[in-house]
Amino acid sequence: MTPELLAPAGNLEKLKVVVSYGANAVYLGGKNQFGLRAASENFTEEELLEAVHICHQKNVKVYVVLNSFFHDKEIQKLPLYLDFLSSIEVDAVIVSDLGVVELIRSYCSIPIHLSTQSSCLNLYSAQFWKSRGVERIVLGREVSLDEAKRIREATNLELEMFVHGSMCMAYSGNCVISNYTSGRDSNRGGCAHSCRFEYELEDNGKKVTDTFMSSKDLFGLRLLKDYQKAGISSLKIEGRMKGPLYAGTITKVYAEALKILDQGKELTQDLINQWEDELKKVSHRDYTEASLLNKASEESIYHQREESSREFDVVGLVADVVEDEFLVIEVRKKFNKGDRIEFLPFRGPHQETIIPNMYLMDDTEVDFTNPGGLVKIPYIPNIGINNIVRKRA
Ligand code: SF4
Repeated sequence: MTPELLAPAGNLEKLKVVVSYGANAVYLGGKNQFGLRAASENFTEEELLEAVHICHQKNVKVYVVLNSFFHDKEIQKLPLYLDFLSSIEVDAVIVSDLGVVELIRSYCSIPIHLSTQSSCLNLYSAQFWKSRGVERIVLGREVSLDEAKRIREATNLELEMFVHGSMCMAYSGNCVISNYTSGRDSNRGGCAHSCRFEYELEDNGKKVTDTFMSSKDLFGLRLLKDYQKAGISSLKIEGRMKGPLYAGTITKVYAEALKILDQGKELTQDLINQWEDELKKVSHRDYTEASLLNKASEESIYHQREESSREFDVVGLVADVVEDEFLVIEVRKKFNKGDRIEFLPFRGPHQETIIPNMYLMDDTEVDFTNPGGLVKIPYIPNIGINNIVRKRA
């Protein structure tokens, strides 16, 4: 079985991008305090309805996060929201809190996925959650692929594991550094990523050392076959708060790789090198395989200041294509006539062009673009609507 590719959708636009680039499922949150990314834009009920419609048309599943830890006052508001989620037929909810699991089980039949926030790391824990009606477990990032395989064989539960993206240096969110440094609760959607700040350790007023607690980013591309052998049902890309360039690029790379595995072919070194080149073009810290093979260690710490590297900026999305005539680009960031830009097609390598000329929609020729506007450029084959347009930063 080839695992499903589960991509983040911070808002409706990002959802359309990751679906176009090959996600089999998306996870997203509503505009309430029930999920763990309060700073992400999230979805109104109307947007959620549209999201489910778009996804189900393309056979893509929608999982809604309800993985905050709830107090009594908040949990009382949940049934109304569950009624709504049931009515629009979301495919599952992602939950951390045992009380929420119990409430959902007694109230409706939406499938429950256990959030990584619950730090399920062992077989006894997995069996317990199974007995409470959980259908899928998002394992803690501390679990190795060998351990995951044993849990899968013993429980036959659907297991989901992270495959790519930022990592928490604590047991997935079970940390209060953010609460104490920023007054923002990481277990209730407010993590300020305080572990990524630079700290100085002093002894009697004398600086001893700079301290870094930030983790490198997870990179599971080279281990896709191992995830498959371990029987993992779903591979999750982190990043509901990241932009469309990030979400689209990572989804494209992993979707292409999984497709090759699905065809029973090998991921050659050449292919891996090409994909790694693509991945370098989006913002990232140094990469690590964290605990997937061996326990994460000093090697997994990101010792630099929080300036993750980014080679490219997204400057637009393709809004329309008129074959053999022109492409319409919805501009996100200014670019000029004569600039070298790249298009990221849904399949295959990126395509470069130097813009020979550009026009507004009324055919006035222009030398530069304005964010928020539309421009036409000459037609380029194999480019589709919602393809990302990027430019070297
Ligand atoms: S501050 Fe860092 S370690 Fe703490 S929850 Fe946030 S990401 Fe995790």
